[in-house]
Amino acid sequence: MLTREDRDHVIALRRELHQCPELGFQEHETARRVAEELRAAGLDVREGIAGTGVVGVLRGGEGVASARTMLIRADMDALPVQEADGRPYGSRNAGRMHACGHDGHTAMALTAARVLAGGRNALPGNVVFAFQPAEETTGGAEPMIRAGILNEPKVDAAIGIHLANTLRVGQVAAQSGPITAACDGFVLTIHGKGGHAARPHLSVDPIAVAFLVGPALHLLMTREKSPAQPAVLTVGAIHGGTAGNIIADTVELRGTLRTYDPDLRRHLKQRVQETVEGIAASMRARAEIEWDESYPSTVNDPAVVALVQRAAAEVVGQDQLVEHEASLGGDDMAYFCAAVPGCYMRIGSANPAQGLDAPHHSPRFDFDEDALPIGAEILVRATRKFLGGEG
Ligand SMILES: [Zn+2]
Ligand SMILES: [Zn+2]
Repeated sequence: MLTREDRDHVIALRRELHQCPELGFQEHETARRVAEELRAAGLDVREGIAGTGVVGVLRGGEGVASARTMLIRADMDALPVQEADGRPYGSRNAGRMHACGHDGHTAMALTAARVLAGGRNALPGNVVFAFQPAEETTGGAEPMIRAGILNEPKVDAAIGIHLANTLRVGQVAAQSGPITAACDGFVLTIHGKGGHAARPHLSVDPIAVAFLVGPALHLLMTREKSPAQPAVLTVGAIHGGTAGNIIADTVELRGTLRTYDPDLRRHLKQRVQETVEGIAASMRARAEIEWDESYPSTVNDPAVVALVQRAAAEVVGQDQLVEHEASLGGDDMAYFCAAVPGCYMRIGSANPAQGLDAPHHSPRFDFDEDALPIGAEILVRATRKFLGGEG
């Protein structure tokens, strides 16, 4: 159980971190503070992993045969957002804001470290705390895994947390299977032949080709996959042309394709490619598509999920365990869940009555801090259960 002091601690830590938001791979001050807290709790600390990542290792009591190891993951990075004024613990870094709640994740994991370290002699295993950079950009999880953080001690399972203003404070969602989407960005360039707007037959108009490509891409999403499978394609930017009386040389479309299922991911990428190339060729143009493969889908393990659900039910009550609707957001917790059995859970943090329900990434994002001791306690209880042989 968290004490009154632990509860005050997690909120104070979150407010301190909130004032110092740093972008991906620039989390120097945050990492320094994380390392300081972990050392104060008596953990072995490694810094500078994959740039600014920090790992704290908590080894349980002596003489534990076949001890297991749980990994608890938190992300530390903030976003390039100018925070809306109004809170006493507001961002001190102009144009930077903890607008996704990663300050809360870091504070919860640090508090879990402190509580678990307090009872380390009775702890029948080890805990690795991984504080990663750059979840919002290119990802710190994969390079930290490549740096060997799952090997010494050898990690057997992983838990990650995300605050969710899509759920009310007190609710928790931990469910099996795919939980975040694979995200594939693309840049599609259509090469035509520029010329005079009044003589289109002497040119190849790439913007006219783009007019056909857009609807065709959206049509793929209803004709090339099962209606039961979640996936989304969005073209978020189109750039081309300089004036109304000039046919452009090229046009560029930027977008993202998000899927859960790896086979569907491969299939849709291939069909997007074939469709844009085919349409461009039929119009005497040429299409080029560059994919920027981001995170794969995060897939939760049923046994670790069941364990987390039991821990969460003890903290918030069985009736507060809810299903979160399918989300096509991405998260590099995916790499931890691919390497070991894992559970990425959502901790409800919205409180509409107090006006704390702005969406993540918005300048007004904030959450009900009662979510923080709930999340920290679930981490502690789930870890103790796992190390005690459950799950
Ligand atoms: Zn985010
Ligand atoms: Zn986030």
